[in-house]
Amino acid sequence: MRSAIIIGGGISGLAAAWELRGTTDVTVLESAPRVGGQMRSAYLAGVPVDVGAEAVTALRPEAVGLVHEVGLGEALRDPARAATVVWSNGALRTFPGEHVMGIPVDPVGLTGTGLLSDGGIDRLRREEALPARGLERDVAVAEYLAGRIGREAVDRLVAPLVGARDGASADRLSLRAALPRLAAVADHGGSVIGALRTVRTAPPPLGGAAQGLQGGLSRLPRVVAQASGARILTGTRAQELRRTPSGRWRVLAATADGPLVVEADAVVCALPAPAAAALLYPHAPGADAELDSIRHAGTAVVTLAFSRAVMPKRIPQGNGYVVPPIEGWATREVTFLSNKWQHLAAAEPGLFLLRISMGHIEEERQLALPDRHLIRTAVRELRQALGAVGEPVAAHVMRWENALPQYDVGHMERVARIHSAVRELPGVDICGAAFAGVDVAACVATGRAAALRLLGAAA
Ligand SMILES: Cc1cc2nc3c(=O)[nH]c(=O)nc-3n(C[C@H](O)[C@H](O)[C@H](O)COP(=O)(O)OP(=O)(O)OC[C@H]3O[C@@H](n4cnc5c(N)ncnc54)[C@H](O)[C@@H]3O)c2cc1C
Repeated sequence: MRSAIIIGGGISGLAAAWELRGTTDVTVLESAPRVGGQMRSAYLAGVPVDVGAEAVTALRPEAVGLVHEVGLGEALRDPARAATVVWSNGALRTFPGEHVMGIPVDPVGLTGTGLLSDGGIDRLRREEALPARGLERDVAVAEYLAGRIGREAVDRLVAPLVGARDGASADRLSLRAALPRLAAVADHGGSVIGALRTVRTAPPPLGGAAQGLQGGLSRLPRVVAQASGARILTGTRAQELRRTPSGRWRVLAATADGPLVVEADAVVCALPAPAAAALLYPHAPGADAELDSIRHAGTAVVTLAFSRAVMPKRIPQGNGYVVPPIEGWATREVTFLSNKWQHLAAAEPGLFLLRISMGHIEEERQLALPDRHLIRTAVRELRQALGAVGEPVAAHVMRWENALPQYDVGHMERVARIHSAVRELPGVDICGAAFAGVDVAACVATGRAAALRLLGAAA
């Protein structure tokens, strides 16, 4: 393989370009005016803030590794350490002790927190005595856990955390795809809480489980694009994929200056699933329908700046809170940026910055409203949780439509079918957030793996 076209200039596609550097002549086609996809920053009151992904996990190596490889390691920043806080039953309530995706390692510790009713805590405490029943098929997170820890704990503790992560609904989310460690416990039957207590892994690395970048996480895709040496064509929307008589691949694209045709030995589709489906049809029968069946959640990120001087109540403590979908709010998660990230507090000490993630796969109506309504709703729900906060001095709304792929029950099998259909096409591969994890580290892993497969096949 001497040349490759990568379609999609998000972090998945750019990770593939990075992997191919030095061996392959790479062209990246990106429909937006900039690379980075869902890794993007904006200026709020003069401070660069992430309005898409804001932190990469430090619990697996791929994203942090790429940051170091492209020379950004010194810009990595640790968040402040803080307990998980949940808005529940009319108050902000702090999660006591350790938990894994909302499942407490010590249910007794919940007593007196107001997070669950006495009955709910009692149900949790009895979980270890429930009969062991192994899992025979993939099920929804809520279906499995409700039978073990009770529906109240699922709604009040687990659902807000899985919702905060992917905008997902615990009632549809695949246990195997989203919580593989828990699924492994479920496969053998037995107690979830007992197993969590024994498989509880080593403490997170110094500095915590996730890291941000000074200047914004969106620096990463920009630097990767540049360092990869690839030809980056922004404002270029791929519209059709054709096989040439000599077995190469030709991409027909649209640009502001008119149509563009690019040809190469290989193609990597690093796109949201529906966009990949449109290009792969009709080359990979079956794959396009499977890709189209992956639902996507929309989300909006409202970033607000308050003047510390006029904030009527004391400055909130901690890193923010999550809101269970059962509360019926538009807010899914609130992040106190100025508490969580020291570099943001230092950038504008007179301001208190916070970010509100809104929308949920089962509740997207509010996202259709104009920006001013979203800001008003965000501030109203903020006041319900924090009391009087005054009026923001600056606001930014970023809408992400159909952004978060939903790993519904059966997702792993669907992904396996997609990969096997695509592998029938010589010189074509696929990667992105729809396949092996939505987080940036998983996207980097899929991009690099797709590039390595193409290199391996060409060797
Ligand atoms: C609000 C929000 C917050 C998040 N927070 C975090 C976080 O803190 N930590 C974390 O790890 N993850 C987070 N994520 C998830 C993570 O950011 C994404 O899963 C990841 O960035 C997706 O990368 P990707 O390259 O697969 O897809 P994308 O970023 O969607 O990139 C795909 C690219 O393809 C382009 N494209 C589409 N169609 C075409 C076409 N026909 N031709 C050419 N180009 C096309 C798009 O413009 C886009 O740039 C967050 C996501 C969102 C939306």
